[in-house]
Amino acid sequence: MSKVIEELTKYAHKLVDQGLVVGAGGNLSMRDGDDMYISPSGFDLKEIEPHQWVKVNITTGEVAGDLRPSSEVLMHLECFRKSEEIQAVLHAHPTYSVGVSSAGKDIPALFPDFPAMVKSVGYIDYVIPTTNLLAEKVAELVGKHEVMIMRNHGVLTLGKTMKEAYFFMQLTEESAKVYTISSIFGGPRILTDEECVELRNLSAERYRSKLLKE
Ligand code: 13P
Ligand code: ZN
Repeated sequence: MSKVIEELTKYAHKLVDQGLVVGAGGNLSMRDGDDMYISPSGFDLKEIEPHQWVKVNITTGEVAGDLRPSSEVLMHLECFRKSEEIQAVLHAHPTYSVGVSSAGKDIPALFPDFPAMVKSVGYIDYVIPTTNLLAEKVAELVGKHEVMIMRNHGVLTLGKTMKEAYFFMQLTEESAKVYTISSIFGGPRILTDEECVELRNLSAERYRSKLLKE
């Protein structure tokens, strides 16, 4: 099994095991030279066999093999086309992130790892999934945000490694969860912009963030 397929398989399992997707929700891809490998459409991510990952040429969009790529293939292609740095793209439907953002709220910084590791979160109002329009909205945000919250739908994270994209997904969902809990108890104290900058500048946090990119 190639390294890319190994990584995709490992993180597909994690997404399901951590409840970040249910049923046939979510999709993930990795760059491999001029191509990307992406999950096939309509699969439980844990049930994808190594030979079933779909190879798609990043420039032409040409699909190899018989299986249909994820219905969000356009959105993934746009991410790889717009930034050479991006190696991995994850899309999931995490419960708290979808809940909070569908109520029209943004997901705030409430604990150190979120602002320290995720530099910027972008928001996309509801757009019909799988469409060109959604891919265009995503393309507009690539390079500005490594986490994109798609209201009434899910979350998209972009990484220099798959591990980084996965950490971004976990941290976003954890933040939405903590936000929900603190809202029950009278409302959170949100970390200030100064506190977020301070966290990002800590050498301990810089080191921890750097590890994710290697
Ligand atoms: P696919 O099974 O086609 O990847 O679709 C899942 C999804 O999350 C659509 O937004
Ligand atoms: Zn989706």
